[in-house]
Amino acid sequence: MGKRDYYEVLGVDKKATLDEIKKAYRKLAVKYHPDRNPGDKEAEDKFKEATEAYEILSDDKKRPIYDQYGFAGLEGMGGGGGAQYSHAFTDFADLFGGMGGGFGDIFESIFGGGSSRRARQDDNTGASLRYDLELSFKDAVYGTKTELRFSRNELCPTCGGSGSEAGTSKKTCPSCGGAGQIRRNTGFLSMVQTCPQCGGSGQIIEHPCKACRGSGYKKESKAVTLTIPAGVDDGRRIVIPHQGDAGKNGGARGDLIVVLHVRSHEYFERSGNDLYCAVPVSITQAALGATITVSSLDGRKIDIPVAAGTQNGKMLRIKGEGVPYSGGGRKGDLYIKVMVQVPERLSAQEKKLLQAFAEAENPTKEPKLIPLSSLAR
Ligand SMILES: [Zn+2]
Ligand SMILES: [Zn+2]
Repeated sequence: MGKRDYYEVLGVDKKATLDEIKKAYRKLAVKYHPDRNPGDKEAEDKFKEATEAYEILSDDKKRPIYDQYGFAGLEGMGGGGGAQYSHAFTDFADLFGGMGGGFGDIFESIFGGGSSRRARQDDNTGASLRYDLELSFKDAVYGTKTELRFSRNELCPTCGGSGSEAGTSKKTCPSCGGAGQIRRNTGFLSMVQTCPQCGGSGQIIEHPCKACRGSGYKKESKAVTLTIPAGVDDGRRIVIPHQGDAGKNGGARGDLIVVLHVRSHEYFERSGNDLYCAVPVSITQAALGATITVSSLDGRKIDIPVAAGTQNGKMLRIKGEGVPYSGGGRKGDLYIKVMVQVPERLSAQEKKLLQAFAEAENPTKEPKLIPLSSLAR
């Protein structure tokens, strides 16, 4: 895969100030942050791409080199290789200060900028799990209750999650001396990496538990009941706290993140909190006016007045028959598009009557064109 230009990645001009670069990166980082998009590979890639671009463009030594020589100029400088973020993140407070929500903390733990104690704590938290839930159009509009069945990691009952056989213990990782990270210095750039031998834990298992082969986990199936509120939309995420994988060494359980996928409906469409449908109306109903009965999404019969002289394509608005707003009794509206049906086959009697109507109407053979500006919608 070819690399995208760093300015393009951040969506800034080549002459962008450091402040503009920071602002652009901050926006992308918040949007694609792994903690907000667990299990989403695309978001993770976007996050890494933006972080790499920010690392280079915020560096007053590297940016001119990149401007002049492109990616080739950065080769061998330790930049542009991805995965090494630590250098640029000495200014968390500056970048994420005033945002609230502890974003600085999250960044520190991810980039290894925080204390090792903090990093350890985060390692003990169980993984968050993603659950893709398909919903019918109607259930998304009116809400429903559903049971989610999934498998998650519980602590291995034999070793209690340690991964070591009973009576044995872990030993300090010789590669990193127990720090879980290794620091490499190349030129003026100092990089921190997760230790490859111990995977960041700082310890290695000498005698793995036979029941879990050293993983410390055992798969278990679990069921939870989820209440889907009325009015949810496609792509919405519902976080069920502490229903993910168990945490090790007393760490918290991860979350279960439910991603909703709403199926389309044969007759109804949705835009925000409004519903749309189309209904056929005969030419006499349209010309003379009538009351027609339409089934709502939940199957109720709604009487709808069609005014005399209603044109084809007219949108009728039925207030309060749309999708409920979250957390309130308020609802959107139902829009019904009138489709005037010209009869394709006429009985002898209908033909006679229409011919009589045509004589009375005496339509012009030379109609004037309709101004396109009058054709709203
Ligand atoms: Zn075990
Ligand atoms: Zn290690």
